[in-house]
Amino acid sequence: MANTRTVTVINGDGIGPEVMAATIRVLEALKAPLEFEFKDAGAEVIAKYGTNLPHETVEAVLRSGVALKGPTGTVVGGGMASANVGLRKRLDLYSSLRPVKSVPGVKTRYDNVDLVVVRENTESLYAGLEHIIVPGVVESLKIITEKASTRIARFAFEYARKHGRKKVTSVHKANIMKLSDGLFLDCTRKVGREFPEIQYEEVIVDNMCMQLVKDPTRYDVLVMENLYGDILSDLCAGLVGGLGLVPGANIGERTAMFEAVHGTAPDIAGKGLANPTALMMSAVMMLDWLDMRDEARKFENALAKVHGEGKARTGDLGGSATTREFTDAVISAL
Ligand code: NAD
Repeated sequence: MANTRTVTVINGDGIGPEVMAATIRVLEALKAPLEFEFKDAGAEVIAKYGTNLPHETVEAVLRSGVALKGPTGTVVGGGMASANVGLRKRLDLYSSLRPVKSVPGVKTRYDNVDLVVVRENTESLYAGLEHIIVPGVVESLKIITEKASTRIARFAFEYARKHGRKKVTSVHKANIMKLSDGLFLDCTRKVGREFPEIQYEEVIVDNMCMQLVKDPTRYDVLVMENLYGDILSDLCAGLVGGLGLVPGANIGERTAMFEAVHGTAPDIAGKGLANPTALMMSAVMMLDWLDMRDEARKFENALAKVHGEGKARTGDLGGSATTREFTDAVISAL
């Protein structure tokens, strides 16, 4: 059996504590050799720490090397910078990996979707570098560097090679942002030449949105800068049944943080109605990353069985099961 690993757990805000408790129940039922160390982050801990990202939380993740995180809330306009963006930057989690796969038993407009969104996590407009020049005029900086673009391109192609994927699509708007997106494109093109067995193509981001809703099965690995990745991740989640189903990982050289794509879902928080699948699938990615393959397959198969049977289905998927009932079904299916 693998050595016991410490995982830093960040419950987060809104439905975060509910989906996290559900996921940890399954990890415990699996008897995965994990120890959980709970740390705080998010809007709900600001009163306690004076910040949404306490120093000790960042230190804990740096020590353990792996975090499982619930969603954290961010105020729209004004307020503190996002704890998420802070974590990704301070831990240098430069790549975001979001596999989007049709879930057997969950009927959507599309079958056989199986694509992966690889998103650069540290720069571009999403870094939120904004300032007021004079009242009524603000400037938001879109920084794109050769270093970060090459690093994410290499991550995408190496992921494709390792997982037997056939094609990498670089998503951009270099027809308009000729310098910034042009540089991103140059980097993905250059790295692509080192992987001749993998087909490489380029698609402009607005066209990409249309192509994805017309026929998502044409795509395999998509690589893009931060903001496009943020938007396309949610679009892709919608293709397979919504935000409750799609897992995610933020990966750096030494550290990885696993979290669902969805947010704090304030409309259903505290009601025991959230679908914990996305965080559970993120935990499956974490088990794989920790080389706990048997536990990962058991967890994944149990989720597939419960979705396939369709008896325990949460409200977002048209059912009436509570978070607890769904989790009980997953544990019974292990
Ligand atoms: P959201 O993902 O929280 O919710 C969008 C819709 O999807 C809502 O109707 C919600 O009920 C539903 N939904 C989301 N997750 C679900 C689940 N597990 N089960 C069932 N239904 C689910 O997006 P939002 O409303 O735009 O954002 C709310 C807050 O979350 C904001 O403060 C935002 O900044 C934050 N957020 C955090 C993260 C993160 O921490 N990774 C990601 C996205 C948004």
